[in-house]
Amino acid sequence: MDARNELTELIRQAREHLIYYRELGLTHIGQVSHLTFSETTMSKQEKTASQGASLFGEISAPPLEEQFVNETLDQIRLDLGDCKRCKLWSTRKQIVFGEGNERADLMFVGEGPGADEDASGRPFVGRAGQLLTKMIEAIGMKREEVYIANVVKSRPPENRAPEKDESDACIPFLYRQIAAIRPKLIVALGNPAAQAILRTKTPISQIRGEIKDYPRIPQIKVLPTFHPAYLLRSPDKKREAWEDLKRVRKFLNGESEL
Ligand code: URA
Repeated sequence: MDARNELTELIRQAREHLIYYRELGLTHIGQVSHLTFSETTMSKQEKTASQGASLFGEISAPPLEEQFVNETLDQIRLDLGDCKRCKLWSTRKQIVFGEGNERADLMFVGEGPGADEDASGRPFVGRAGQLLTKMIEAIGMKREEVYIANVVKSRPPENRAPEKDESDACIPFLYRQIAAIRPKLIVALGNPAAQAILRTKTPISQIRGEIKDYPRIPQIKVLPTFHPAYLLRSPDKKREAWEDLKRVRKFLNGESEL
């Protein structure tokens, strides 16, 4: 191949790559080295992009927190729309986006809406929700002062745990809610929430009560504890949950040694 044909072929291949990355949803071309979030904290799409970056040299998708800087919860809700990004849309009644103080220092994250939440469009309003409200009040706060959300925004049928494709489709919205609120502390309620937020497979029984960094924004801390629905089924675990709540209170009062 002569030099001219070689150049034409190179341009053709580069064009194909660019079209491929655009179809993956990439909107940004830049240096890989500017990424500040570790690969383990990235979503599937972000990971695909960074793998693309090493293949192609200089294409990367910035983390969600860089793509959606300074957005409000209303903007995130608008973007979520009448979401059909996973199959849960076909069985839900309503999307349960989350509610509370947009400037909250404290955020609670559960697994996904149940029947009462699906019917009302509000998170944690059923029996587990009533216990959560009591837990919040036990640390001297009002429900309206905190923000409450879930990993998935649509009810999984029969209250089953969300499946991986469902969590993967929904969790970018939780990440964006966290980035918009910037709480000091996220209390992850139960295994699915703790594992999704901390991007770990370690079971809650081994990490509950420990204050960790939120991997995507390490200034934000995460405290995994038992889900209130679990506490309703296993009241003997309430003592440990109470210990965790006391840590929350100490942390928010600036008395916690990290
Ligand atoms: N359980 C959850 O995980 N979330 C809710 O909103 C209600 C119950």
